[in-house]
Amino acid sequence: MKVRVDRERCRGLGNCVVLAPGVFRLDETNKAVVTGAASVDDERLLEAAESCPENAIILEDDDGRQVYP
Ligand code: SF4
Repeated sequence: MKVRVDRERCRGLGNCVVLAPGVFRLDETNKAVVTGAASVDDERLLEAAESCPENAIILEDDDGRQVYP
């Protein structure tokens, strides 16, 4: 699964960082960046994406099809 953050939507709430600290961190502008999706399983990625109230975390399968949201 591929993961990216829509930084226009991100409000820096940090839910994703709490749930998957190996995948996301907040940068100096207080927006999430992806640091390493491979460190967790797909279930945890989905959980992190669902935790984002802004729907800013976008998941795609290996063929580039959007899985979430
Ligand atoms: S949970 Fe969403 S809004 Fe909050 S930091 Fe992560 S991507 Fe940004």
